[in-house]
Amino acid sequence: MAQSFRALLDLCKRRGFLYQSAEIYGGLRGAYDYGPLGVELKKNILNSWWRQNVYYRDDVVGLDTSIITPHPVLKASGHVDEFTDLLVDCTLTKERFRPDKAPSVKFLPFAEKPESGEIPIEAPDKETAKAWQKTIQEQLAPGIVTSVHGKNIHLHVKTLVEPNENGEGGSITFKANGVPELKICYHGYVEPTTNSPFLTDSRPFNLMFKTFLDPIDPIERVIQTTKKHDVDSKQSTREAVDEVLRPSTVYLRPETAQGVFINFEQVTRTMKTKPPFGIAQVGKSFRNEIRLEHGIFRTPEFEQMELEYFVAPWESGHWFSYWRQRRYNWWLEHACYPKNFRQRDHGKNEMAHYATGCTDVEYLYPWGWGEVEGVANRGNFDLTQHIKNTNANFEVVEDEVRISPNVTTDHSLIPKEKPARYVPHVVESSCGLNRAMLAYLCDAFHQVVDETGTNKQPRTILKLDPRLAPIKCAVMPLTGKAEFMPIVEKVAKSLRRQGWYTVVESQKLKIGKRYYRHDEVGTPWCVTVDFQSLEDGTVTLRDRDTGAQQRFAWQDVKKHIGEKLSD
Ligand code: ATP
Repeated sequence: MAQSFRALLDLCKRRGFLYQSAEIYGGLRGAYDYGPLGVELKKNILNSWWRQNVYYRDDVVGLDTSIITPHPVLKASGHVDEFTDLLVDCTLTKERFRPDKAPSVKFLPFAEKPESGEIPIEAPDKETAKAWQKTIQEQLAPGIVTSVHGKNIHLHVKTLVEPNENGEGGSITFKANGVPELKICYHGYVEPTTNSPFLTDSRPFNLMFKTFLDPIDPIERVIQTTKKHDVDSKQSTREAVDEVLRPSTVYLRPETAQGVFINFEQVTRTMKTKPPFGIAQVGKSFRNEIRLEHGIFRTPEFEQMELEYFVAPWESGHWFSYWRQRRYNWWLEHACYPKNFRQRDHGKNEMAHYATGCTDVEYLYPWGWGEVEGVANRGNFDLTQHIKNTNANFEVVEDEVRISPNVTTDHSLIPKEKPARYVPHVVESSCGLNRAMLAYLCDAFHQVVDETGTNKQPRTILKLDPRLAPIKCAVMPLTGKAEFMPIVEKVAKSLRRQGWYTVVESQKLKIGKRYYRHDEVGTPWCVTVDFQSLEDGTVTLRDRDTGAQQRFAWQDVKKHIGEKLSD
């Protein structure tokens, strides 16, 4: 599983899906650039989401709000005070971890008394062994490593030392029964233990990226404005500095949703919408994550596709069930292996205090189940918070409460007075675009061995849903003959006019090799112009998944492909 994930990442890099950002400068951890094929795949996922949630409905409109968000908005929403994770620091490696994912001391029991000689340690793989060797050599106990063979490291027992007061160092201790244990802290090694000498107490850590909208450098501003007596008379230096910087404090938004809530009144006024209706937004969000994980699964900069669906309070249960199912169906519809997607309902203790329901959609990634989307019944907490902190009027007034026969209604929540006034409840669907891309790449990644050929090396077929595939069609001449090119150009032009990313593949590779290159990046169809095409204007259309070829008049190719691409 891990091996095929590595092969997938290698393919992504080699074929232009994903690059490490700023690679020529050594790269930036957690930052990725999307290559020519990655950008298409991402766009196709986004377009499918937008079609289904906006264009195919008459009750959802779109919005695109600012990434830079003023302090009061995120103070009101609770993010400034509560958008935190717990954090522990490893005093040895200087890395940060969430307590539940913290690395720790590994206790290695030995069968024999290691008073002298060598202790073998097995790392998960060669690379990890090298990293451990480096950490042990440089930070733990120089001279302790005697040799490294593949994933096995040998340590010299005599040179092990007691940890110093900072918890740095390793030691051998002897249990009562005389069986010795080696305590050692590895870089990135995960083995839970309750009482690690290398990890600090946990403390809350706000995940938002804070910055300042000010032409004057914040440090300069603080130096200029803060007098010594200010600092002395305040509770702490931090408060004094915060006060100076507060007017210019802004954040990169940690979710797109708040931009929707604060525009609620503008949208209802300009679009004449009334609940039930939704506002969709797709865009970048930013979180200073404690641990970045698994390529684009968890990154500081990512894209979200969010829908805020506003409803009357007495209908919120109904709409939560509706969106919970509808969003899950969307994931299944594009999957090769639907069984690798599941829904997980949150327990009461997992939900925000104002939420009455929350379900994650999860995908079975190579390292286990991971969240790709959350659907939540958020009550009217968000709108109410912004009402409290501004003069906004987010109240909906209805002369007559409509009771729809198709909607399950909680009659106890219908206001008695007329007209009925209420602050709408919101059902939110929040989906990570980058995680969706990674899930669909994992789902589509197939390695097959061609038993009939001489080459027994596995080759890759990326069985992406054709609607998501970056390149829809590769049009190619059978050979390098110039006579084939006019038809090639005509077919390509007719497909491009449909808005489908189409490439002309006239490289001097054998036709089979060209097909395989396109299987590898998920191109669902290849059109070949051959000698018969010159006589009767027909071309072959090859299907990626079956390898089957059909002949069509070149003008009919777009009709055939179009049928397969419709939702
Ligand atoms: P997690 O528990 O994995 O950190 P979350 O519950 O904090 O996720 P939400 O706040 O519900 O995530 O955000 C909605 C969606 O945004 C997630 O389901 C995920 O797809 C995506 N997402 C959140 N954080 C990140 C991130 N750091 N990198 C990539 N995608 C993210």
